[in-house]
This record gives sequence, C-alpha cells and structure tokens, in this order.
Amino acid sequence: MKILVTGGLGFIGSHTVVELQQKNYEVVIIDNLSNSSIDVLSGIEKITGKTPEFHNFDLCEREKVNQFFKNHQDLSGIIHFAASKAVGESVENPLLYYENNINTLVYLLKAQTQFQQANFIFSSSCTVYGEADKLPITEDAPVKQAESPYGNTKQIGEEIIRDTAKTYSHFKAIALRYFNPIGAHESAEIGELPIGTPQNLVPYITQTAAGIRNELSIFGDDYPTVDGTCIRDYIHVVDLAKAHVVALERQLQDSCKTNFEVFNLGTGKGSSVKEVVQTFERVTNQELPHKIVSRREGDVVAAYADTQKAKNELGWATKLTLDDALASAWKWQLKLRQTH
Ligand code: UDP
Repeated sequence: MKILVTGGLGFIGSHTVVELQQKNYEVVIIDNLSNSSIDVLSGIEKITGKTPEFHNFDLCEREKVNQFFKNHQDLSGIIHFAASKAVGESVENPLLYYENNINTLVYLLKAQTQFQQANFIFSSSCTVYGEADKLPITEDAPVKQAESPYGNTKQIGEEIIRDTAKTYSHFKAIALRYFNPIGAHESAEIGELPIGTPQNLVPYITQTAAGIRNELSIFGDDYPTVDGTCIRDYIHVVDLAKAHVVALERQLQDSCKTNFEVFNLGTGKGSSVKEVVQTFERVTNQELPHKIVSRREGDVVAAYADTQKAKNELGWATKLTLDDALASAWKWQLKLRQTH
C-alpha cells in the first residue's frame, strides 16, 4: 500500500517513514527541504534498506499539488507533517505561518477529496490545550485561545479537517496531538536537525554538552511545581512514529468510531526541566553547564497527557523511557559531530 508522507524528511516525519517502510508500506515523500536535509533520505535507506520516492516541492504551489495527485491516484493514506513550527517566528511573521500551514492543508484536502481518497492523519499538538484546567490532559479538555499564530494554525487546522469530515462521508481523519517529541532513532542514522539556535529543550541540551552552546538557560524556577521548573510530557520520537502507523491501520481496517478522531500522544508522565537536565547528566555521565534565567513568555506551567484513550482505542502506549530518549538524542548529537 502506498502512503504519502508530507514533511517526510523532517524530525517526526523521517522516523515515521522508517516505521512505515519496516511494515512494508510503500512511502512517497513530499518535502521542500525548508527545515530538513536531503541527507535524511540516505539515513532512512541505511535503516530500512529502501529509498522512498521523493518529491521536492512546496505544498503552497497548488498546481504542483494537483499534478501530484493526478499522478498518484493509488494512495491509501496521507500523513501530513509538513508545516512551519517555530513559535517565536510565527509571532514575528504570522501571515507566513497561516500561508504555510493553512493553505497547504486546504490544497491537500481539496485534492484528496477530489480524488476520493479516504485516509488523512494530521500532526497536531498539545499546544491546543494551552494551560489546561485539569491534569493529566484528556482529549475532551477545552481548546484554549492559542498563544501564538503557530498554535492557532494547529487549532484552525483541526477545525478545517473536522468540517471536511462532516461533509465528505468517504473521508476519514485522525488528529494526533503530540506532547513533547524528543530523541532519535537508536541507529543514530536519523534524528532532529535544528536550523540555527535550537528553541527546544533537548536539542539545546545536546548541543551544550557537545560544546556548540556555552550553557543551557533554564527558563524560570519560580513556577508552582515540585522544583519550580515547568513540567512537560517528553515522548520518544520512535514511540510517536509508531503511533502514526497504528492510527493509519485503524483507518485502513475501517475501525474508526467517527470519521474525525483526536488522540493525545504522550507518555502520561510529567518531567520538570531540572529533571530532564539531571537525567541527561546521569545517562551520559557528564555535567551539563546551566543557569536559571527569567521565564519565557507563553510557557504553560505544566502539561502531560492522559493516555487512556490512545491505550483503549488505538491499543498504543509508549514503550521507551526518558532515559532511552535522552541517550538516543546524545548518540545522534555525537554522530552529527563526526559527520558535519
Ligand atoms: N526550556 C528551557 N530552556 C531552553 C528551552 C526550553 O528551560 O533553552 C524549557 C521551556 O521553558 C519549557 C520546556 O523546557 O518549560 C520545554 O520547552 P520546549 O521549547 O522544548 O517545548 P514546549 O513545551 O515549549 O513546546
């Protein structure tokens, strides 16, 4: 079966391509390399022994999207990762984010429904919950006013898909709300490739340990949590990638309860920033230079997933730990040091 993976050379996309190929799906990637590298293709090939079909174009180019669908009428599913994801950049350039994340989604869905293709999986985010009223966060927690244009594109994206699913009965969609994906493939052939200074915690930690950054700044230790630092649910990217295959198979087997479904993807366990730093120091046996600075604007105090719905309905749960994820992220960082 042929599956389209947009953004298939990105961090989560590439790990999902590996899992799909390892289950014998034929993968077609569309990626414009705006936040990824062509070298990822060879990483995927090294792990799986197969090179996916690759198309380099921007999904904002509507004609190219239509042409692609005309030439690929045999797709069994689409997993849509391609999107811009830097929160700060989205505040500086909101229209770029609406164009990149919303136009592309609409063009894809138009083509998909026109060609009567059924299955769509959307990369969403726990950011839609904002500062949740209750922890752990269940899927029926209210969607809060988005903190950034980036977050808003995920909310609007889900609404667009929900409306599409109401109208086209042949169309099935699942939105997967990711908590904090980290780590890398155990082979260290693929991993996260931040462009410029990393905005996310774990790549900043591994770059600091590698000597690329001087020290980690911990954004605030005066939050109402155990040790004063923010709590997040860090999920190993390989567990996350496997969840996409499970969600796709739910659609392929026609097991969806409704034609638009939402699932949280997390471990269910919250870890503080300090805990992540200490765990990293323990698993890699080195000290990480760090200091406390003021809070970062827009950060919520705590977010971790209620994982019951994913367990009960998808039959999926995470298997890998924070230790595994941080060890793999470090192995990947060391590999990058050798090759770049
Ligand atoms: N964080 C930090 N220093 C950094 C980057 C992140 O202290 O250089 C903290 C951030 O304040 C948050 C947590 O690490 O509490 C996770 O941040 P990240 O940007 O990785 O993910 P987010 O939860 O914001 O999507």
